Amino acid sequence: MDAASMVDEQLVPRGITDQRVLAAMRSVRRHRFVPIQYRLSAYYDGPLPIGYGQTISQPYIVALMTQLLETEPEATVLEIGTGSGYQAAVLAELVKHVYTVETIKELADRARKVLESEGYTNVTVYHRDGSYGLPEHAPYDRIMVTAAAPRVPDQLKDQLADGGVMVIPIGPAYGVQVLRQIRRVKDDFEWTDREYVRFVPFTGGVSQSEDE
Ligand code: SAH
Repeated sequence: MDAASMVDEQLVPRGITDQRVLAAMRSVRRHRFVPIQYRLSAYYDGPLPIGYGQTISQPYIVALMTQLLETEPEATVLEIGTGSGYQAAVLAELVKHVYTVETIKELADRARKVLESEGYTNVTVYHRDGSYGLPEHAPYDRIMVTAAAPRVPDQLKDQLADGGVMVIPIGPAYGVQVLRQIRRVKDDFEWTDREYVRFVPFTGGVSQSEDE
């Protein structure tokens, strides 16, 4: 299995229609982002462990979230939860710059190395708790959160540009969560729930706060 058959067999049949997203999913070398023992399974239809209790999302979920983010070539994107760096690479194919934040130092270091060796010069990896976003480069045209939070952190809302889009799984840790697409119009946040998903929990500041 390779990236081209992953796109043709898993993404197109399940309704990923955005041609830019499909092209990005074809070109990123997913096998470089998974641990060596999972290389042969890199393009299969499921999540894979990346160590430290974390996972790289299933290709379909990466494609779906990327499609819902409605990227544009000139956009600046913030991703919370770098993990393997794979989602950041897919975004890097589609936008001007990706800032991505990871709370586990070993994962941040590994992702930074892989992204560099794969030739991505428009991704910056930060090691820190992403509950507070990344104020220094705000506002962001797009924000993607790849760990489940009980509610949308206020700081992330504040850091989303007017007209911007955020995609975030909302719900309890280890329960069923819903993929929420949020659009900022001035100081209003319009949202639509898109699909049920299961993500590893968001840790740090926001996980302590109460449900909406
Ligand atoms: N997008 C990743 C998969 C993310 S798994 C990929 O393409 O591989 C979720 C990641 O979010 C984990 O690596 C976890 O450590 C990280 N995470 C959880 N809470 C976080 C927080 N508060 N700030 C930053 N990263 C966080």
